[in-house]
This record gives sequence, structure tokens and C-alpha cells, in this order.
Amino acid sequence: MLRIAVQSKGRLYEETMELLKSAGIKLVAVKRTLLVPSRNFPVELLFLRDDDIPASVATGTADVGIVGLNEVLEKKQYVNVLRPLGFSKCRLSLAIPKEADYQGLEWFNGKKIATSYPNVLNEFLEKNGIDADTHEISGSVEVAPGIGLADAIFDIVSSGGTLVSNNLKEVETVLSSEAVLIGNNMYLSDDKREVLDELMFRIEAVKTAEKKKYLLMNVPRERLDQVIEILPGIKSPTILPLADEKWCSVHAVLEEKQLWEVINNLKNVGAEGILVLNIEEMVI
Ligand code: ATP
Ligand code: MG
Repeated sequence: MLRIAVQSKGRLYEETMELLKSAGIKLVAVKRTLLVPSRNFPVELLFLRDDDIPASVATGTADVGIVGLNEVLEKKQYVNVLRPLGFSKCRLSLAIPKEADYQGLEWFNGKKIATSYPNVLNEFLEKNGIDADTHEISGSVEVAPGIGLADAIFDIVSSGGTLVSNNLKEVETVLSSEAVLIGNNMYLSDDKREVLDELMFRIEAVKTAEKKKYLLMNVPRERLDQVIEILPGIKSPTILPLADEKWCSVHAVLEEKQLWEVINNLKNVGAEGILVLNIEEMVI
């Protein structure tokens, strides 16, 4: 049984559970307990605060974990990042009062910076030769300058809305983060190794499918060549006959980012009844 450490509640929770569900992992329905087995796959989930996930994996309490890269780097535990997971994207940034005149990093010399990420911050300051005073607080970092507790903050930013409402401006991005799957260097039994390989394979399939769409449309036969030319990078789209012999149905998979451009081009050459479907998994 492979043990996966995940966040028990918070910003990682929903998408972590969504990913595992997409990978076909169903949980035994139990009331909130620390350890929950799956009923159809040999894994169990260990629900923790995100702060505790890197250490739980490093010590072998869990075999793998899902946590923000920001926490991985801050906690300095011996873990390996097995793969990025593409959700909970945010950045760790330095922010200062909106009205301050900022010319560059030297601004921080002699200043007091409030943060929940002292390790990442100190490494950054040291690397850039800045002599600032790091003040560790565990939450509500963004209010620190407003109440005179610090001159600046180093904190998680995603939309930047929190900064604006606290009269702060982001001046330096230090780290881009997202959720990652982490593992350790411990010996994994053959059974666990097999489960982990299967889990990684399924995550890969889910991630590949996320960026793709399945497209169906009706095309006049005489325009088929033009339609095939528009569908990019597809070896050979599926073409099915329709009751009306002058028309056929074309099916193809395409990259989400090309979607609207391709649809416009398809409409221009006479494609009709275009359907766009999500793909749940894709094994290449
Ligand atoms: P816990 O109670 O587990 O310690 P927490 O309060 O420390 O939770 P959350 O706010 O739930 O942490 O954030 C968890 C992780 O989600 C962060 O470490 C970061 O990687 C990511 N994250 C945080 N804020 C955002 C955001 N606004 N947008 C996207 N991702 C975010
Ligand atoms: Mg936390």
C-alpha cells in the first residue's frame, strides 16, 4: 500500500482530490480521519497540514506527497520533486508600501521584512548581497507593514488583490510555485514501486488530456480537404459517413490553446455543428 501525504484542508485540497479522482482513485467513505485507504487502488491518503508534508515524506512516514513547491523549498527536507502538477500556481514575492519610491533591491538594505518563508527569503537576500532583517510570522503577513510591524513583506501572491487591499505593491518575484508530487530516497518495496509507477502513468494521462479537446463536426464532402488542412498536427482525423452522402462527420483531437483559431477557420470553410468535448484521460 503506497501512502500519499496530502493537505487535509486548504488551497491544495480540492485540486489534489480532483487529480486523484481523475486518476481513478476512489476513497473508502470514512469520516475525517488521518489515514484513508482507497477502495479500488492500493494507496492510502495521509491528511496533514501542508507544512508537515515535506517532513512526512523525507522521514518515510509517507512514501510520496502532494504539496506546493514553496513549502518544499522552505522546509529544506530531503525530498525529490517527481513531477510538477500544474495547479495551485502562485509566486513568492517581495512587496512594499505602495507609495515607496522603489529603484531596486538595495531598497531592502536595513529594512525589516515580515514573512512565513524565512529560509527562501534569506537565501535570496544573501545571494543578492542585501542586508535586511527577516521577521518570521505565521499568518496575515500582508498586514504587517500597515501596523508598523515591518517595512515590507515576502509572501505568496496569486492575483495580487490582497496586496492592493493592503496598500502594497509587488516589486520582486523570487519564486514561481505550483503543486508538485514529491518522493524520498528510501527503498520502495517492489509492490510500492509498481503502484507509484502506475500512479505516475495515470497522472501523466490526466495531465496530457487536460490540455486537449475532442472535436466533432459535420463537413460537406467537397470541403473535406480544406478541413483536413486546417486541423493541425493530427496524423489523420477520423472521417465517418453520414446519411446524407454529401456530408461527413470529422473527429479530431487538438490542443486547447489552438481551439478558437481552429474553430473559426473550420466555420469559414463550411464545417457545421461543431462539438467540443473534454477528454478525461489520454494514453499516448
Ligand atoms: P495548512 O493549514 O495546511 O497549513 P496553509 O494555510 O498553510 O494550510 P493554504 O493557504 O491552504 O496553506 O495554501 C496551500 C498552498 O497553496 C500554498 O503553500 C501555495 O503553494 C498554494 N497557494 C497559496 N495561496 C494560493 C493562491 N492564492 N492561489 C494559488 N495557490 C495558492
Ligand atoms: Mg501551512
